[in-house]
Amino acid sequence: MDCQESCNCIPLFIEDKLTGDELSAFLLHVKSCKSCYEEMETNYLLKEALSRLEQGESFNIHAELLKKFRIYEKLSGLHNATQLTRRVILLISAFAVGICMLSLYI
Ligand SMILES: [Zn+2]
Repeated sequence: MDCQESCNCIPLFIEDKLTGDELSAFLLHVKSCKSCYEEMETNYLLKEALSRLEQGESFNIHAELLKKFRIYEKLSGLHNATQLTRRVILLISAFAVGICMLSLYI
């Protein structure tokens, strides 16, 4: 996903309407792209601040956005995928070390 596509997804993400592969691609992009993250934060802030001000509530937009982002990250399986990748890398490293140790004794 590029920055233009990501910007198009921001309103959908904020409205909880982004799903499936599009959601995963969006989260991946926003995690690594500072300008898109800031764009999302600004959009979220504007939308939430306006609605909260109307209701007279207090709020911590930054913490709420981070929470929302993490929930969607877990739901989209990115969190698990990252953990699985780490485990595979650990296993491969352990295997490589094992081969090195073995070759020293042969
Ligand atoms: Zn971007």
